[in-house]
Amino acid sequence: MTGKMEQLETVIIGGGHAGLTMSYFLSQAKREHVILERGQVGERWRSERWDSFCFQFPNWTIELPGYKYQCDDPEAFAPGREVVRFIEEYATHIKAPIRCGVEVASLERTEDSSRYLLTTNNGAIEAANVVIATGPYQLPVIPAMSAQLPNNILQVHSNAYRNPAQLPPGAVLVVGSGASGCQIADDLNQSGRKVYLSVGRHSRMPRRYRGQDFAYWGAALKRPEQIVDTVPLNLRDGSEVLLTGANGGYDVDLRAMAARGIVLLGHLQDNKDANLVLADDLAQNLAKGDEALENFTKAVDDYIAKNGLEVPQEQRSKLNPNDAKEIPAPLLNLNLKHAGINAIVWASGFRCNFDFVKLPVFDGAGEPVHRRGVTQFPGIYFLGLRWLYKRKSAFLLRASGAEDAAYLAEQIMAGAKDSRERPRG
Ligand SMILES: Cc1cc2nc3c(=O)[nH]c(=O)nc-3n(C[C@H](O)[C@H](O)[C@H](O)COP(=O)(O)OP(=O)(O)OC[C@H]3O[C@@H](n4cnc5c(N)ncnc54)[C@H](O)[C@@H]3O)c2cc1C
Repeated sequence: MTGKMEQLETVIIGGGHAGLTMSYFLSQAKREHVILERGQVGERWRSERWDSFCFQFPNWTIELPGYKYQCDDPEAFAPGREVVRFIEEYATHIKAPIRCGVEVASLERTEDSSRYLLTTNNGAIEAANVVIATGPYQLPVIPAMSAQLPNNILQVHSNAYRNPAQLPPGAVLVVGSGASGCQIADDLNQSGRKVYLSVGRHSRMPRRYRGQDFAYWGAALKRPEQIVDTVPLNLRDGSEVLLTGANGGYDVDLRAMAARGIVLLGHLQDNKDANLVLADDLAQNLAKGDEALENFTKAVDDYIAKNGLEVPQEQRSKLNPNDAKEIPAPLLNLNLKHAGINAIVWASGFRCNFDFVKLPVFDGAGEPVHRRGVTQFPGIYFLGLRWLYKRKSAFLLRASGAEDAAYLAEQIMAGAKDSRERPRG
């Protein structure tokens, strides 16, 4: 780069809803900042969702600070392209100072340690504050066993799955039964594909219950407000809530999926070439899923009783899910060739990737060390991570990230007076 290095008070990395929310609060406080986004505004909603994807919560929940989604039917579920349009409109509405197509390759301290140096594909910038809002779902996780699978099997992660036509003809194995795995399995099943679904831990939830959407009762029970320290680690991760907004929104019920022809399997343990070994844990995983449903509906019933609400009784019995005997004993071995499986969709989750951050702000597992997004490095903040502060921290719905962003804006303002001179230890 020629000439003087660009100097800014704050750089936000990432132009998803978290980065934009941060920008909203900094603009309100009239603080100088830019957002650097390697792709386009809301890039992950554009390029990492499948064609039939719909927002998993009703339209009335789609909101960012100071801006609500405009729609005809608040109880309907917006298709993915509408979510992109909403985020784009939001960026325009708040006049976000966003630079698209700018990827941050490294973030480190300046030589004198007084500020931070961001190296990008469009030159370098020095800043007093950097908010890292690059998303909670960054790199696809694919089990190592995938390397041992025959070359003729097409493998794709859920973030690269688009539609059934993308896959070679034949049956498909979907590995992972979180919301993504179940939605993709249904998408394939509806297109007439034979689908095998490897089921792991999950939390079955009602789309609607006693006259309201899941999101309504979740908010009433204050689930999104749960603070990270108050929820044991084992209850924060690993048990994906099953929801879908596809086809107008419906209950994601694995037994019903089996009745529609999807072959349910236990979790994928191992493989030798085309021979897969599956755990004998399907019944156990389904039972755990049912337990989550029972806990949730009971909590809603208790809430209704306690508050004397006049709401309809549930017609269908959610508390007595279909008997497990309706599911045939799961296969423990599966030969891909014999089953006619030519493609595998790995709906096996994501991990963070902060390789570009050249600062020792991570623990042994590579997770950022922070409290409410504030790190031990003055001016370095994280935003939009799962459980950053509350259960809701990473979600778009109901302006969930606003509280965290407002808090970071306060931190930035508090440090603003001396941010240009303060030596950074
Ligand atoms: C399949 C799926 C479905 C989901 N459905 C819902 C839903 O229905 N409702 C809901 O509320 N939440 C949903 N979520 C969660 C939601 O998508 C994420 O929590 C949300 O996108 C996080 O927003 P963010 O702004 O923190 O991150 P992201 O949306 O991931 O934005 C981060 C941005 O940073 C950019 N970036 C990354 N690295 C760099 C770099 N080095 N330099 C410059 N830019 C960079 C990326 O391009 C990206 O645009 C879903 C998640 C997944 C995976």
